[in-house]
Amino acid sequence: MSEAPGQAAASPSTPASAPQRPAPPQVIRREDYCPPAFGIDRVELRFELDEDVSTVHATLALRRAPGAAAAAPLVLDGEGLVLRSVAIDGRTLGPEAYAQDAATLTIAAVPDVFELRTVVEIRPQDNTELTGLYRSSGNYCTQCEAEGFRRITFFLDRPDVMARYRVTLAADRTRYPVLLANGNRVAAGELPGGRHFATWDDPFPKPSYLFALVAGDLRCHAGEFTTASGRRVRLEIWVEPENIDRCEHALRSLQRAMLWDEQRFGREYDLDIYMIVAVSDFNMGAMENKGLNIFNAKYVLARPDTATDDDYEAIEKVIAHEYFHNWTGNRVTCRDWFQLTLKEGLTVFRDHWFSADMGSPAVTRIAEVLALRTAQFAEDSGPMAHPIRPESYVEMNNFYTATVYEKGSEVIGMLRTLLGDAGFRRGMDLYFERHDGQAVTCDDFRAALADANGRDLEQFGRWYSQVGTPVLRARTTHDPATGRFTLRLEQAPPLAAGAGREAAPLLHIPVAMGLLAPDGSSLPLQLVGEAAASPGETRVLELREQAQSFEFVGVQEAPAVSLLRGFSAPVELDYPRSDDELARLMGADPDAFARWDAGQELARRVLLRLCDDAVAGRELVIDERLVTACGRVLADPRLDGSLKALALTLPNERILGQHQTIVAVEGLHRARQFVVRALAEALQGPLRAIYSETAPRGPYAITQPEIDRRRLHNLALGYLAALGDDASVALAVAQFKDADNMSDSQEALACLIEVGGPVREAGLAEFHARWRGDALVLDKWFTLQAVSGHPDTLERVLALAHHPDFTLANPNRTRALLASFGLRNQFHFHDASGRGYQLLADKVCELDPHNPHVAARLVSAFNNWRRFDSGRQAAMHAQLQRIAGLPGLSRSTQEIVARALV
Ligand code: ZN
Repeated sequence: MSEAPGQAAASPSTPASAPQRPAPPQVIRREDYCPPAFGIDRVELRFELDEDVSTVHATLALRRAPGAAAAAPLVLDGEGLVLRSVAIDGRTLGPEAYAQDAATLTIAAVPDVFELRTVVEIRPQDNTELTGLYRSSGNYCTQCEAEGFRRITFFLDRPDVMARYRVTLAADRTRYPVLLANGNRVAAGELPGGRHFATWDDPFPKPSYLFALVAGDLRCHAGEFTTASGRRVRLEIWVEPENIDRCEHALRSLQRAMLWDEQRFGREYDLDIYMIVAVSDFNMGAMENKGLNIFNAKYVLARPDTATDDDYEAIEKVIAHEYFHNWTGNRVTCRDWFQLTLKEGLTVFRDHWFSADMGSPAVTRIAEVLALRTAQFAEDSGPMAHPIRPESYVEMNNFYTATVYEKGSEVIGMLRTLLGDAGFRRGMDLYFERHDGQAVTCDDFRAALADANGRDLEQFGRWYSQVGTPVLRARTTHDPATGRFTLRLEQAPPLAAGAGREAAPLLHIPVAMGLLAPDGSSLPLQLVGEAAASPGETRVLELREQAQSFEFVGVQEAPAVSLLRGFSAPVELDYPRSDDELARLMGADPDAFARWDAGQELARRVLLRLCDDAVAGRELVIDERLVTACGRVLADPRLDGSLKALALTLPNERILGQHQTIVAVEGLHRARQFVVRALAEALQGPLRAIYSETAPRGPYAITQPEIDRRRLHNLALGYLAALGDDASVALAVAQFKDADNMSDSQEALACLIEVGGPVREAGLAEFHARWRGDALVLDKWFTLQAVSGHPDTLERVLALAHHPDFTLANPNRTRALLASFGLRNQFHFHDASGRGYQLLADKVCELDPHNPHVAARLVSAFNNWRRFDSGRQAAMHAQLQRIAGLPGLSRSTQEIVARALV
């Protein structure tokens, strides 16, 4: 009789033969930080790259840190390395002199100053995790942040160990003609056996996470930039040969970013060469390795027929982001990974500012806030809620989050608001001056800003440890007799606060605001006791107490209050104002963001009421105020096309769901579909007129007016197609056929997919036939189907998971289908049958052994499971438990699932 494995010796009295349980994952805590016991001055690496086994020879100049225990052993990080030899000061160590386990190499007795040589073997071709040294499309590349360098060689793999690197790569000359690493190329030549080598030297000390190398058959699109001080920098974009005609936009974006950082922040580039390599298999967006950025090809390659306007903008933003890291991240880096927002929040803030300067500040800001509310607010109210500076983690890769990045950027934005542009710049200057070449903390950053401005930012510092989205409550009273208007602001802990958050310490919150008279004009802003009104139509109130009242004088008629202009703080606003007040703000607020936000709030109210009606089985009737407001927006000559398109895009179902205790999955979908159709019917005339007025009048151009025009054009098409009448469908069919660019083509196809039937099949077939050989465009084909609202979307997605072009081996493809479905399609992913859950869980289980980082991202689609009704809760819970029970589950996925199940 056979026994099931694991039951064989399940007797608790025989622990020696008990089933192997993985050790509970180790929690790393911020409070446990200890400086390293050794420093590394110089690193010399030699890579022998080979198809079967690659060899890494490392020579490290080590020295015991001042103050470190004299007898402390040397403990190096190293994972999955086959150790061939280890030597100290030229003497090879016997096996008794060191100990290796799954994560470390420990050498018990070492001198205070010495040279360590190790030789290890690795197999990059088998590396499916895509961290460390791996292969993509037959080329070698690396990804070391956060802890990938230890998968290449034994090292003190932590950001506060900064060293100078010299790197030699040797490989087959025909297969790998291009050999790149950080810094400057100082030697190159032939080797026997058809091999060649190149040696690179990086003069700047850097942490190991910024190490990079690339070897492969690549082509270079080159350019140049002359710095403010007159140094010429060579710029190189390296891509696979067939993509060489898609690099110009990335190059121009880089040049714009370099100029902008000089003009805004006085920061020049510091090496003679800046390289960007585009790879097809990449876990994240891009990586800022010193002088040698490695990018997900998605954020480099663009040609009008393959990339949308959004793609062009995303490329410019990511190129800039990685470039800006050269100062905020590389020259000044993080002491430990808990400080991640030091570089990421700050660099996101810088790329936001750059995007605003390059394009439309209002449109940029609206897109940022939309992303923040959709992803970060959701994260902040679920099991992964954490401060922008986390207190603990199990797997660092799980903390590259919307909170660390986007909320982190909002926190920097509040500092800019509080200090003003000049004060903020003074603070940044001092930060660079004090800390260039160092690994520092968020507190160091805040201290530099405070010191440069003589300001106390102590209370502000609580934003770094605060969890959840705080609520800003506003109440007003007006006394027409005295002309006094009182605004009472109160801060409250997050609505979704868990135990212990009630005593949240008081935050320092900048609230940008203004007052509008009934005729829409801006009122002077004078507080009682002030001699005169503050200059301008906006002022920033600083809320530091639990509650504060601000009393304005000279307010004769009840004003509309414009609060959180520019979204001056990452909070949830609780201000029960009338629909009429919202309509007034929508029409007249001088702050474009606030105008948009008022419209969103109005639409949200309408949609949530209709959702209730739908759930209760009542007849749905459109609120005429929304129709009127949308009609006004369409007709408003002051608004550009992008702003109109944003204003007319209803809040998505995920954001709406955040405003419900239990997400009404079907009700929200029905309500939103209903309003789209109702608006399309009511505004048919203007929409048709706009569609033809905004028709393309020349070949594709990526200029702001043209982008604005296309956005409005496609918004109109989307509404018209929702009518589903022959004439409107014909417009979509024609646009799909005639488009000379991917924006128009993709939007038309999205409409055809919603329409369904033969036009959908024809469109999808044609798109697939045309682009099947182009991975990035084919990703769009998967995504459009995954995010569709069409009734048979779930069936589609289930079928697409078996499509010959679908693969879990490529992160972009995985995300294109599964993350799009699980994280962006609330209605169909949460299908009451539970089959969406089943699919996602199946794929997580399948992917986890190969790429735990991407699997952990996918599984987070279940994070908000408690927000749904009991049937859905049970179904998601069962999937989470199934995943949790998977033998050998990765630390990454395990951490997310465990937090979700708590
Ligand atoms: Zn970054």
